[in-house]
Amino acid sequence: MKILLDYSINELKETFSSQKSFVAEQIFSFAHNGKSVDEMTSLSKEFREYLKDEYVSVGAEVLKEFKGKEGTSKFLLKLVDNQLIECVFMENNYGNTICVSTQVGCRMGCKFCASGKDGLSRNLSAGEILSQIVLVNRLKGGNISKRAISNVVLMGSGEPLDNYDNVVKFFSLLNEKKGINVSERNISLSTCGICDKIYSLADSGHHPTLTISLHAADDVSRKKIMPIANKYSIDEIIKATKYYFEKTGRRVIFEYSLIEGVNDSLDEAKKLSTLVKGFPSHVNLIRLNKVDGANLSCSGGAKKFLSALTSMGVSATIRRSLGSDVEGACGQLKRRYLGEGQNC
Ligand code: SAH
Repeated sequence: MKILLDYSINELKETFSSQKSFVAEQIFSFAHNGKSVDEMTSLSKEFREYLKDEYVSVGAEVLKEFKGKEGTSKFLLKLVDNQLIECVFMENNYGNTICVSTQVGCRMGCKFCASGKDGLSRNLSAGEILSQIVLVNRLKGGNISKRAISNVVLMGSGEPLDNYDNVVKFFSLLNEKKGINVSERNISLSTCGICDKIYSLADSGHHPTLTISLHAADDVSRKKIMPIANKYSIDEIIKATKYYFEKTGRRVIFEYSLIEGVNDSLDEAKKLSTLVKGFPSHVNLIRLNKVDGANLSCSGGAKKFLSALTSMGVSATIRRSLGSDVEGACGQLKRRYLGEGQNC
């Protein structure tokens, strides 16, 4: 089955060239409103029957919503090929945020993260990434003229820059004026630091907020927890990040999950401050969330680490952790399997 949300308006026009050109725009807005082909009632019944043989409108369906505290919900979604993914909806005082997955599983293998536990199954298409937003927007009472979602973060399962082409196409679809139209100022892409793709993104014309999962201030410690550190050094990441800032003018965010005895010493805080000073950036300190099987624990020294950074002039905060009561916090989203129990 092909997914209508994978297509731009022009691609729909080309694909359905035997139809009047406004039909493509109608299909586009129905799909971006989360409507099924059956609900596309302004199209002729005959055409809808033809569409249904080959296409679904949205590339996923919601199997379950796990409601957590403070308006946070985790959604379990089934893709057209029965694979399962998760996304998380969070209410904030500045608007609602959705955290979407970009791959089924992940092949980065970070030691502290559940998403890569069983490796990568496959990339999500642009329309499948968008489907998560379209479905949750509709479920929360939104549509394309009045969005229930104002911020999008690519921080669910998967490494977005390991699925670069689909992610870039997703940005174009999401920015489309006739669609959900979330501005790139309100989109964050989080990466473990695939440098060549950071350069490509900077040159692509798409400028979401770049968030780097750094989690260590030197290569030796980083290699212990993140295999990608064997491919790119921290110096290379900082160089690519500065390039991103120069090209886009966007402040870069560094994520740093504090792990007891691994990266939480004051010496590490000093090294981190040297790395991130000199260009507009911000450090988000994250309290490590519990992940089964990972023999790593949350540092008790978050406040000390924070005051060390701020006293050295680094802009830094400890991030509010949302969703851990539904296993929906950072690093807790994983590849689920049909029939697998969920402990919430
Ligand atoms: N692959 C991307 C995006 C997914 S993870 C990346 O690496 O950035 C989103 C954020 O959660 C990343 O900063 C990631 O390092 C962090 N994270 C993963 N596991 C975590 C855990 N157990 N506790 C806290 N943060 C975690």
